Amino acid sequence: MTRLHLDNANRQRGETGWRAWFSADALKLLAHQVSVTALDLVFPPQCVHCQRVGSFLCPRCLAQMETAPARTVPGLDDVRVALTFEGPVRSAIHALKYEGVKRLAEPLALSMVSTLEDTDWSVDMVCPVPLHQRRVRERGYNQSALLARALAEHMNWEYCEEAISRVRETETQTHLNAQQRRENVAGAFIAAPAQVESRCVVIVDDVLTTGATLEACATAFRAAGARRIYGVALASAVFADAGMGVFGTPGLP
Ligand SMILES: [Zn+2]
Repeated sequence: MTRLHLDNANRQRGETGWRAWFSADALKLLAHQVSVTALDLVFPPQCVHCQRVGSFLCPRCLAQMETAPARTVPGLDDVRVALTFEGPVRSAIHALKYEGVKRLAEPLALSMVSTLEDTDWSVDMVCPVPLHQRRVRERGYNQSALLARALAEHMNWEYCEEAISRVRETETQTHLNAQQRRENVAGAFIAAPAQVESRCVVIVDDVLTTGATLEACATAFRAAGARRIYGVALASAVFADAGMGVFGTPGLP
């Protein structure tokens, strides 16, 4: 299986962007994907996008993932986004968020690592965009926390989940326009000055749409005395204010 995957990876390898990263980290990623558990032998993992048996993201779908265009978000010193929210990326995030395929966090976090290669950020801590406690209880986990933890491990950064919390439950943003989204999340977060003051913080989110959520988090960190605030998102979605545009999947941001 490993040989087949590597052959596929080599064939689909390109020269730039995601594909350049893919070739560099292919061995690491494939090693992760073939580290099967006993349960996998009984129920082999399937690609969450094309259902090919063998891994949660097959080499063909990995090679189709596109790098995201640069984004900025008010209130943040710098922002990096790894992938464009479509095709296999959309399927992968949906599986990570709603289908409990938590093992996808590790390979997906590698794509965020690659977007940070040319940054000179001085980082003291990494925090995920927090979910409200009720949502965590329902889902059992925070998908952004899984990504942030994996990113922190790869970058050798301190991971801190408690530095920011969601103090107000917010309605799902799916059907809100840009202005409504900003109002929806304004004041929803609070950061702890004891952990944040004078520190450089990275906030991690799964999907960056209008940036309203990251902006609200940055406001909370700034109020708590953070020195620098950076953002990293796994994917960037094109926001279609008038219609629902790319937001055809219920519950996605
Ligand atoms: Zn696939």
